[in-house]
Amino acid sequence: MSSFYQLDADAVVAQVGSDRERGLASEQAQERLRQDGPNELIDRGTKPPWAIVWDQMTDIMVVILIIAAVVSVGLGEWEDALVITAIVILNAILGFSQEYRAEQAIAALKKLAVPTVRVRRDNQVQEVSARELVVGDVVLLEAGNKVPADGRLVECVNLRVQEAALTGESEPVEKTDEALGVSDVPLGDRHNMVYMGTVVSYGRAKAVVTATGMNTELGSIAEMLQTVEREQTPLQRRLDQLGKTLAVATLVIIGIVFALGLLRGEPFELMLLTGISMAVAAVPEGLPAVVTITLALGSRRMLRRNALIRKLPAVETLGSVTVICSDKTGTLTENRMAVTMLDVIDETVALEALTEQSEPVSDAELDRAVGPSRRSLALLMKAATLCNDAILQPRRVGSGDWRSMGDPTEGAIIVAAAQLGLDKERLEKRWPRVAEVSFTSERKRMTTVHKTDDLADDGRALWREAPYVAFSKGAVDSLLEISRHVWVDDGAIPLQDELLARIGAANERLARQGQRVLGVAFRPLHQPPQALTEDELEQELIFVGLIGMSDPPRAEVEQAVLTSRTAGIRPIMITGDHPLTAQHIAGVLDISRNGRVLTGRDLTGMSSELLRDEVAEVPVFARVSPEHKLNIVEALQDRGEVVAMTGDGVNDAPALKKADIGVAMGVTGTDVSKEAADMVLLDDNFATIVAAVEEGRVIYDNIRKFIKYILSSNTGEIWVMLVAPFLGMPLPLLPLQILWINLVTDGLPGLALAVEPAERNTMTRRPYHPGESVFSRGIGRQILWIGGLMGLVSLLVGYLGWLDNPGGAWQTMVFTTLTLAQMGNALAIRSSRDSLFTIGLRSNLLMLGAVLLTFLLQLMVIYVPLLQRFFETEALSIGQLAVSLVASTTVFWAAELEKWWLRRSRTGGSTQRQ
Ligand code: ATP
Repeated sequence: MSSFYQLDADAVVAQVGSDRERGLASEQAQERLRQDGPNELIDRGTKPPWAIVWDQMTDIMVVILIIAAVVSVGLGEWEDALVITAIVILNAILGFSQEYRAEQAIAALKKLAVPTVRVRRDNQVQEVSARELVVGDVVLLEAGNKVPADGRLVECVNLRVQEAALTGESEPVEKTDEALGVSDVPLGDRHNMVYMGTVVSYGRAKAVVTATGMNTELGSIAEMLQTVEREQTPLQRRLDQLGKTLAVATLVIIGIVFALGLLRGEPFELMLLTGISMAVAAVPEGLPAVVTITLALGSRRMLRRNALIRKLPAVETLGSVTVICSDKTGTLTENRMAVTMLDVIDETVALEALTEQSEPVSDAELDRAVGPSRRSLALLMKAATLCNDAILQPRRVGSGDWRSMGDPTEGAIIVAAAQLGLDKERLEKRWPRVAEVSFTSERKRMTTVHKTDDLADDGRALWREAPYVAFSKGAVDSLLEISRHVWVDDGAIPLQDELLARIGAANERLARQGQRVLGVAFRPLHQPPQALTEDELEQELIFVGLIGMSDPPRAEVEQAVLTSRTAGIRPIMITGDHPLTAQHIAGVLDISRNGRVLTGRDLTGMSSELLRDEVAEVPVFARVSPEHKLNIVEALQDRGEVVAMTGDGVNDAPALKKADIGVAMGVTGTDVSKEAADMVLLDDNFATIVAAVEEGRVIYDNIRKFIKYILSSNTGEIWVMLVAPFLGMPLPLLPLQILWINLVTDGLPGLALAVEPAERNTMTRRPYHPGESVFSRGIGRQILWIGGLMGLVSLLVGYLGWLDNPGGAWQTMVFTTLTLAQMGNALAIRSSRDSLFTIGLRSNLLMLGAVLLTFLLQLMVIYVPLLQRFFETEALSIGQLAVSLVASTTVFWAAELEKWWLRRSRTGGSTQRQ
């Protein structure tokens, strides 16, 4: 059997049972989907449950505990061994369920990262998820698309595909739709095929799917796509390091306690277990895991606010963002473009005025319209409609209410044309497109070439002379550069300065109102377009006029800009649009206060030193190309800024990768930009970036709170263990009691801290620097003094009890005071600034539940006889319990007092306002 690349396109289409124009029927596609399964690669990215269990069991802490259990068995301490095993299992279940949830969250993100594809089905263009593609589907590809499955090209215009993912070849490969008569062609040379996972870098094409999912070439090498990457975040790396440092410190302390214990004549076995427990007590082994879980769950919260996280570290970095560089179109504005003004040399008219004419104007009527300027207007719209890839769809058949698919700028044009009676499909039949030069953000224009042969009866001398005509549309300055004439009074006159000035003035007038302005030009061609290069084609144009379209700013962005400013984040607009249009929108949204703007032309040739100075001041960059975006990111980063940058185009990937947070557009973005990004905005909205930053700050805060909470508890325990021998007391805390505190009574409120809502000042304080120590802004100090106080109070209670009655329940009092002090600590830690009485107990019900449950568990350990035996506790009298409870609250009051003092003096780092 011949391979698909050997056959001609029609044969392939027939072989896969499809129709190149109509595509598959929906039922057919569904049937095939049922048979072949979804178009996806087997996911090797998620951790299977057994791997989670294995990771849990090989955790250093668990290993230590298992050793401890074995040692206990060896010493004949069956009860200890049993309890330690129970705690290990409990901990594993807790850890497993947490990590499993995190995995689920990540898996859900991956599913959402699947791109949509344009296919022809039921003789219509539809957007479907790439997962639903089946063999025989006719797929439309354009620059920026990721090829969603393997396919044979059936139509192909200047298509170039980057196949590095598959062949390692980094240069884009030029494609064709012709059959390759030969056999045994290597993958990289099958120029009429496209393969899953490769990327369209230029042009457009139609391909019929020949293989999906694991049957594709990519599937056969089973590589992962659509990954949500899991790298370690800076915080995680620092915590790992911290864990190691603490481990060493602990070993030293254990050595001391061990030696002191032996000197005091404590039994060797007990000291062995104590040493092991202290190791567990001091090293926050669970911390890195908690960070991952908090980040993963945080990404789910962000998703609820329309920010899809693709790389986990982004959750953390978002909280540190200091500059947001945003596109204009669609991110700051609504991307609901509507043509408002048409402008040719002798006339400017509002579209409304034209459409309000009682009779809809037909194509031919426009041509015959009275007056040359009206005919120029007709030419303007006709050219812009033909030089256009958007697709028109009636909202309801025959309703005259139109909707478009594709680029919104182009959509606006064909909708306006339809309102004027110019039907794109009909026009295309009469003026078939034979060649084109696609739009790129660098040239800021596009050109299509059409045949004019059968228009000889059109009555227009112009076309009769030339068999082809090229239509171009694009940024006005970009078109004027390659225009030599202007269309005036049904004829072409040289583009002199005076005309240039008139066009420039009209352009500025529209741009100043915030309108997006496109220029339109044409060129009769006397030779076939194939004889010309792309550069030669885009020369000697005849300029026709301007189309102005409105694109209002998004209502919610103004507030978001304000929020980001108060949060110490500077918004910057970077757009391909005209400087005046950009300035107008930036002014309305308060992005620009000093009115300064730099253009791509200014940036070209600017030294990096100068650019570094300029980016500190300039809020608007206009008419920039993707490579300028990269320069701007670099200049900002040189200044120490943490940059979030949006991008949607094919060539935005390098800037998105370079930015600290690359942000892609979920609706209008290309697949390439989405893949390069750390975060995808599902609603393309600037306000969503600000919302994600807020979530990032909350998550980062909560992780820091958790660190503070866990480490202060550990510090407290170590103080108790360390100081007691100096007071001549026997061991104040038993190994199992330490394990109980660390794994159970600390664990529950600790988890509740992860869901603590935003603090009042979350978005009114300056961002954290990503390199900032986890102990900054008072956290290190608080860990030490709160931990110290906690240890001291517990020990004091125990000491007095011990003096009173060395054989009494004083150990249980130490244990209980320490546990309860941690509860007070958890409640105080909830806000680093406000008093618990201000934020209220009900603002984190999970915490309230966790504290109550922990209290109950502690009572059980003290009063339930079976547990008493295991934990070697004794029932406290009401008086003793009351003493422990009251003493433990010292920690809460002290922590609240510190916050009160910080509030008063406003010197605490995290309470600083800018
Ligand atoms: P932003 O970068 O804020 O999204 P933008 O959409 O204007 O702005 P580009 O898409 O790079 O940025 O467009 C730059 C310029 O190219 C536009 O101002 C317009 O003049 C022109 N342009 C945009 N789309 C088209 C198109 N489909 N055909 C021809 N010219 C276009």
